[in-house]
Amino acid sequence: MICLCLTASTIEEDRAAFLANKEFVQLVELRVDRLKQDQFGLIVPFLASLRDDYQMKAILTLRLAEDGGSWAYGEDERRQLIHRTVDQLCAGGAKAAGLAYVDLEAGKDFGELETFVRSCACTIIRSRHNFAGTPADLLEQVEALYSTTISDASSQDPVIAKFACTCRGVADLLLLVKTTAQLRKHGRRFVVLGMGAFGVPSRILSSKLGSLWTYTSSQQVPGQAAAPGHMDPALLAQGFRFAQIGAATKVFGIIGNPVMHSRSPAFHNSRFDAEQVDAVYVPFMVDDLASFFQLASELAIAGLSVTIPHKEAVRAYLTVEDELVREIGACNTLVSRSKSWYGTNTDAPGFFAPLALLLESRPGIKRKALVLGAGGAARAIVQSLLSHGFSVLLVNRGLERAQVLVNDFLKWYPQMIEARGLDDLDYHDADFLDYCHVIVQTTSLGMQGPDSNKDALEHYQYRGHEIVYDIVYVPEQTVFLRRARQAACTVINGRPMFDEQARLQSQLFFEALKT
Ligand code: NAP
Repeated sequence: MICLCLTASTIEEDRAAFLANKEFVQLVELRVDRLKQDQFGLIVPFLASLRDDYQMKAILTLRLAEDGGSWAYGEDERRQLIHRTVDQLCAGGAKAAGLAYVDLEAGKDFGELETFVRSCACTIIRSRHNFAGTPADLLEQVEALYSTTISDASSQDPVIAKFACTCRGVADLLLLVKTTAQLRKHGRRFVVLGMGAFGVPSRILSSKLGSLWTYTSSQQVPGQAAAPGHMDPALLAQGFRFAQIGAATKVFGIIGNPVMHSRSPAFHNSRFDAEQVDAVYVPFMVDDLASFFQLASELAIAGLSVTIPHKEAVRAYLTVEDELVREIGACNTLVSRSKSWYGTNTDAPGFFAPLALLLESRPGIKRKALVLGAGGAARAIVQSLLSHGFSVLLVNRGLERAQVLVNDFLKWYPQMIEARGLDDLDYHDADFLDYCHVIVQTTSLGMQGPDSNKDALEHYQYRGHEIVYDIVYVPEQTVFLRRARQAACTVINGRPMFDEQARLQSQLFFEALKT
């Protein structure tokens, strides 16, 4: 289930958030501790309306500040408000349908209140939050939540254990995933989720991991404060096809740091949706590849995209790497084959595909190119140009990095590539100008962010015959590309490259699904 947390200060705002998201959620949590005191009288009518008008289950939560909540009144007032709300919702014999859940934190004796809540057929969620990290004894701490002060429970697990902990790195996520495997084995009813960017996969894959639900916050409706790592319910339901995810769902993903901005999840999940396959593509924030690959085996991950900064380091985990990876020195695609990892690079063919179309219409063009930048992407692009017969002048802000790249490629393509520092360029030099038939911009300049107004080749005067290619794809037209277009050059932006490298990955992922 997707649970929508309602965290506004008024019931009206909470109702608006619910109405905007009701088609995506199966459960709501009303965070009463966030409400202003003058709203308390509206709680029961609102919960009754959710139940009666929308058949929506609800969790009642009044969290203390020490547990990460905002309850500003006394403990007695808190208990009285819970008692009164449950009592009023159950009035008139509507006990079984009164209120689905009440969240009561671990470590406190709720005594009579707990007995009363249970007598109203309401399930208790015994919750604990660890904002500092993921404890090494997570399993023991979750198991401890089941030992409750009340012994009259008729079901085996009288409470649902909820544990939310901050994943400080991918090692914490691994521990969390292993813990859920044990809890499933023990037949427990639980919600165990990771907070923060490293914990996001535990939220997307919650049903595969055995959690009864995952918490979300509306990011479209004002007044709703998202907890760390909460996703928008519409994105989770539609973008990640949450309802389809189950124990057998095959997991694919992208590893990077940062990774949350990536468009790859939208691309690959829509492909899975179009073909109706039981697979999901997840963004994994990764700080430590060794822990990640343990996680990959725990989740039986079938295929991966790789982005900054792991494209080079990931090679150490490959059993088989193809020639492209060897020449480029970087891998952006992994597929699991018979429990070992096969690595390739789709950036290079992805880059060349739109250029090849243009070259077809300009067969006489001199095969000489200027490449700006010497980062990870430049490596794939240089390999692609060299392997298609281009001579390359590689220009970078830092000459040393450019020289390292050039030396690596000279082994494979002698005399076809040379390096120069950006500040050393003579823009009128005939030798330099002779490279400028195809100009490829691979630096991060122009990309959305602080450098978005910068032109990577600001002192160059376009002559109009050049093919100018910027691999940045957000925004679609960089300052660099706009100036080239104004000078009547033929331009290509980074979008076709992104789509093509993703399409090639997608083919490999679908092949992996068949095995
Ligand atoms: P990277 O490895 O971090 O390399 C960044 C490059 O940009 C380096 O050459 C760096 O020069 C240069 N640079 C950064 N700031 C600069 C500045 N202020 N002035 C001059 N040069 C600067 O990054 P990457 O993986 O190569 O990615 C680069 C860009 O390509 C990103 O915008 C990325 O989104 C885009 N990309 C697009 C696709 C696609 O499918 N269209 C695929 C991959 C990447 P120094 O070496 O001197 O620091």
